[in-house]
Amino acid sequence: MKRIWIVALVSLLSTALIACETDNANDQETEMDANNSEWAIALHGGAGVISRDLPEDERQQYYEGLEEALRIGEEVLRNGGSALDAVEQVVRNLEDNPLFNAGRGSVFTHEGTHELDAAIMDGSTLEAGALTGVTTVRNPVTLARKIMENSRHIFFSGNGAEVYADEMEVERVENEWFSTERRYQQLQRALEESSSYLQNPELGKDYLHFKYGTVGAAALDQNGNLAAATSTGGMTNKMYGRVGDVPIIGSGTYANDLAAISATGWGEQIMRNVSAHTIAAHMEFTGSSLQESMQFLLTERLNPGDAGFISVDRYGNVVMDMNTEGMFRAGANAAGFREVAIWEDE
Ligand code: ASP
Repeated sequence: MKRIWIVALVSLLSTALIACETDNANDQETEMDANNSEWAIALHGGAGVISRDLPEDERQQYYEGLEEALRIGEEVLRNGGSALDAVEQVVRNLEDNPLFNAGRGSVFTHEGTHELDAAIMDGSTLEAGALTGVTTVRNPVTLARKIMENSRHIFFSGNGAEVYADEMEVERVENEWFSTERRYQQLQRALEESSSYLQNPELGKDYLHFKYGTVGAAALDQNGNLAAATSTGGMTNKMYGRVGDVPIIGSGTYANDLAAISATGWGEQIMRNVSAHTIAAHMEFTGSSLQESMQFLLTERLNPGDAGFISVDRYGNVVMDMNTEGMFRAGANAAGFREVAIWEDE
């Protein structure tokens, strides 16, 4: 008799528990669903120490550059284009803008040249394309997409990536084409600061004082597909062959069916924490929102001053956050959200 009572009690308790869990799951779904938006786009032009004394005309140029790139993404998505097209076109635009550290305007390596990294990822298939250390590819993000769509591999480096660029007839330029006076001066300053991170890893973050501008985009299209892309010249004064987080799938760039994410900041720290994937995995394993998962990474895993992320989730929420002083960023969705900003408190 006693056993029957215990069995009845246990089954009553587990029914109550299941009901309670279902309720929570529904709550979460409702909360995450609240901003349901047909499409969404987020982009960045780099994070770091961005002086608030930035002269007005320069500040204006950055806002205009971000605004122009945002409009390109919005148009693709509003007209029913794919998330992949949106992120590729946005990143191409930012690569061609000499203000940002990707494509034209890329930072200089220690040797005074440019070595570029890029990646793209399709969240609906987990297909990805990436390259590192290219020196003559005008728009590395387009080469990344060709790698994703036409090769049976994901990641190409240096000379092999350039050979593949030839095969795919991707536009090539001389290495000097990427050079700008401003980046050259940044290299000179970095070389002068002999206590740079190259000699002392403890000072790794110092590079953020004289560079910012990696570019990236994340998008959700009207078919519910997510995609992310990132492109960079890397870090001023970087050593030969240094590879950052950007082309490492899961570190600087990641997309699945929950979210699409692009990172910027101190590449070594972003890599150590497999950052973009950690955000997506946190969402999946804990049922947290994109915002909560990004907060977890920024506050529980990374250190202040390390990085920033832009992202969109499958509901069209746009989340752009950082633990640096600033991040050039912009985002919009079909539900009416629209923002172009540089500093944290904007
Ligand atoms: N994360 C990039 C890198 O380390 C740099 C940046 O985002 O500014 O190559």
